[in-house]
Amino acid sequence: MRLRDLPSVSTILQTAEAAALRERFGHGLATDAIRAVLDEARRTLQAGAPAAFAIEELAGQAEARLEAAERSALRPVFNLTGTVLHTNLGRALLAEAAIEAAVAAMRDPAALEFDLATGKRGERDDHVRALLCDLTGAEDATVVNNNAAAVLIAINTLAHGRGAIVSRGELIEIGGAFRMPDIMQRAGAHLIEVGTTNRTHAKDYRAALGPDTGLILKVHTSNYRIQGFTAEVGAAELATIADAAGVPLMNDLGSGTLVDLGHYALEREPTVREAVAEGAGLVTFSGDKLLGGPQAGFIVGRHALIEAINRNPMKRALRLDKIRLAAIEATLRLYRDPDRLAERLPTLKLLARPEAEIEAQAHRLVPAVAAAVKPAFTVAPCPCQSQIGSGALPLNTIASAGLVIRPVAAGGRALDTLAAALRALDRPIIGRIEDGGLILDLRCLTDEAAFLTALAGLRVMVP
Ligand SMILES: *Cc1c(COP(=O)(O)O)cnc(C)c1O
Repeated sequence: MRLRDLPSVSTILQTAEAAALRERFGHGLATDAIRAVLDEARRTLQAGAPAAFAIEELAGQAEARLEAAERSALRPVFNLTGTVLHTNLGRALLAEAAIEAAVAAMRDPAALEFDLATGKRGERDDHVRALLCDLTGAEDATVVNNNAAAVLIAINTLAHGRGAIVSRGELIEIGGAFRMPDIMQRAGAHLIEVGTTNRTHAKDYRAALGPDTGLILKVHTSNYRIQGFTAEVGAAELATIADAAGVPLMNDLGSGTLVDLGHYALEREPTVREAVAEGAGLVTFSGDKLLGGPQAGFIVGRHALIEAINRNPMKRALRLDKIRLAAIEATLRLYRDPDRLAERLPTLKLLARPEAEIEAQAHRLVPAVAAAVKPAFTVAPCPCQSQIGSGALPLNTIASAGLVIRPVAAGGRALDTLAAALRALDRPIIGRIEDGGLILDLRCLTDEAAFLTALAGLRVMVP
């Protein structure tokens, strides 16, 4: 085909195919896509490659371009990484009740800051305050954008221009450049480090207390453990020290759970209620980690401290919108019926999913997955270990089952090619590469039919 035989943009725009594209995607986008496809064809011909381009083919290419551009980058994926609360994959999946509440809040006006009893202005936090107090035993509660924000505003409120005491063993860094010393600085507090990395004693805290101390901070070492020759001061003892000095104690729990995970055959984490009962003035925790709700940061504790936080102008900058408040309220309500919690709260359901059930699923899926990746790969069921993720119980894994996909020919980049092809699906499948195999941990695979549909679109070209 010669360059001058290529149809023009306006010729293509007059075809029925182009009319359909304009109807679907709008005139501007459709024209841009046709122009881009023609540019590409022109370059091919200029490079001297023997090629011919029918109008239908060019329109088809334009359609593919438009469809690819329309696919959201934030689209649903299958999380088969084995990490249940995967921060990069959006952490907790919401309960149906929370999803319905969020959708209702999106669609219609809601009494967000409006007291229906009196017809006067209300407080947006009132929707969750009573529930949080009820579930944690705290006097008062407030809620902000995430737990990082909760820590920031609490330190800023209580220790701006003053000292905040923290053990050297608890100066954590969590993902995304959240480092406790930096947060303290940004909150305007002077960091007063006490103890050593592995051992901190009550006398270290007492010696650091002074007229300028605004806060004692205890931080849950979410994503690591210090083991061996160690000593730390428990929150209950710290509360006594703080009370005697007239200084508030804040306990940042990180994940913070509202239930005893022991009931679900998981390792125990201290519950928020326990942390409150230990006497901390404030306890902070996340909404989208073990709690299983949307992203949020909860601060519960003594009324006077919570009131001071609510008066901080930062509160306005860190507050939640109606969509998340509605989802939080619905999520917290589920905790009032603990017997049915594991059925209704996806996070707990996935964490507590019996290994035998996952193993049976793995066996069931072998033939379909093998058919999709043949002939370059083999597929077999395998035992594997899931993680909670998001810094909860970092050393504990949960026995799980999955599929291991191995290339038939050793060496080469076949596994990376396969992982990329799985990521390119309409609904991407995300696994993990380990010991020369791609592992698909099936703990979080709840919609098997959707998985098989997605898999049917797989095209792997092994080099
Ligand atoms: C996860 C975590 C945070 C931050 O919580 P986000 O909700 O992710 O903002 C703060 N402190 C600790 C100890 C954590 O584990």
